[in-house]
Amino acid sequence: MKRKRGKIFVISSPSGGGKTSVCTRLKKTRFDIKYSVSATTRTPRKGEVNGRDYHFFLKARFKRLIKSGKFLEWADNFGDLYGTPKNFVLNNIKRSKDVILAIDVKGAMQVKKMYKKAVLTFLMPPSMDVLKKRLKKRKTEKGRGLARRLKVAKKELAYLKRYDYVVVNDSLVRAVETFKAIITAERNKVEK
Ligand code: 5GP
Repeated sequence: MKRKRGKIFVISSPSGGGKTSVCTRLKKTRFDIKYSVSATTRTPRKGEVNGRDYHFFLKARFKRLIKSGKFLEWADNFGDLYGTPKNFVLNNIKRSKDVILAIDVKGAMQVKKMYKKAVLTFLMPPSMDVLKKRLKKRKTEKGRGLARRLKVAKKELAYLKRYDYVVVNDSLVRAVETFKAIITAERNKVEK
């Protein structure tokens, strides 16, 4: 039975919560899924590649794209802009392909508002302490940046009830397997 449309799967977690690691692992084995590459105005981190990890844009360009409606959703995070390119997602779901969006809670809420059938998964760090350790280990944020990300993380946890699924990220392998199970279950759901 061929599905008419693909599904949008959103995965959110606080910064450092592990959604990039989950998606990176998934990408290596699940070629049947499309992965949305977000646009951002933040500076690339060491090892990040333009077009693979993010589309790195200057603020002026990003703002022009907002104005011309090129983003499915966008949000301001820590002073930088982040957004999901609209055409990539819409073209794929039209071709019956499922798309994964690794985005924050603000973006997830915008997507759910427009696409009621979007499936939202919250990747939960096992504890705030673990999250702090992961952020420190990542060494991308220090001092105020780190404190700010932890403060925002606490606020984001309050959105959990608006998600469809929660996956506790105590082990990367288990988290990936659970996320795959969610995708399989949703693909087999009877359309009402
Ligand atoms: P980072 O700078 O650590 O890569 O990302 C910071 C935050 O921006 C994370 O919470 C991440 O999920 C979020 N983010 C990344 N891409 C997007 C996007 O396209 N839209 C929205 N709304 N948030 C995003």
